[in-house]
Amino acid sequence: MTGAFVIAVDGPAASGKGTIAQRLGAAYGLPVLDTGLLYRAAGVLTKRAGESLDNPDACAAAAATITFDQLSDPALRTREAGELASRVAVHPRVRDALLAFQQTFAGQEGGSVLDGRDIGTVICPDAPAKLYVTARPEIRAERRWKQLAATGEAASLAEVLADIRRRDARDGGRRAAPMRPARDATLLDTSEMTIEQAADAARRIVEAARARWEAS
Ligand code: C5P
Repeated sequence: MTGAFVIAVDGPAASGKGTIAQRLGAAYGLPVLDTGLLYRAAGVLTKRAGESLDNPDACAAAAATITFDQLSDPALRTREAGELASRVAVHPRVRDALLAFQQTFAGQEGGSVLDGRDIGTVICPDAPAKLYVTARPEIRAERRWKQLAATGEAASLAEVLADIRRRDARDGGRRAAPMRPARDATLLDTSEMTIEQAADAARRIVEAARARWEAS
């Protein structure tokens, strides 16, 4: 058993990975980082600075200024912030600017949980536990649509489904750290699961990984 017990939770938007990461953090008493918030903050800060999202240097400069406290800004939870995030996330320089923040968080003594797109493949390739959480796009769109409605953001289900498909294509098709399961990740399809069932299934996967890690 070497290093910290890091749990990597990757997957597409609204797959349930964020809730699963939070539940795992609570179950194991580990701090949780939603790495999507870093890309959302980079996108929002770039736009606020009046810079182009297609300018890698401007986006990376914005990314380099992000602090932990900024991640609780409700402005990062909007549909627009998700789209801005996915656009700045294609730039390798932005990803590099956010690497140390994520790896420092991951390396905390005792362990950590990180959710994102490239945690198991790039940020923490040696994580002892890796999950890749998926669900069908239509199911994910419905979940995200309900979340947005609860925060007062009006959008049709068709618009949210289109957002999800566009983001899946951009995140999976980019050259820098494309969204994909790590070779040693366990896949968890939550399409037909309640959040309780998904959290239980994730817990079982992590228990098995923890037993292997402790025995290693
Ligand atoms: O998870 P969330 O939907 O908040 O992520 C927003 C966007 O940030 C994603 O669509 C993706 O483009 C980017 N992202 C990423 N790598 C991560 C986390 C998020 O590229 N580890």
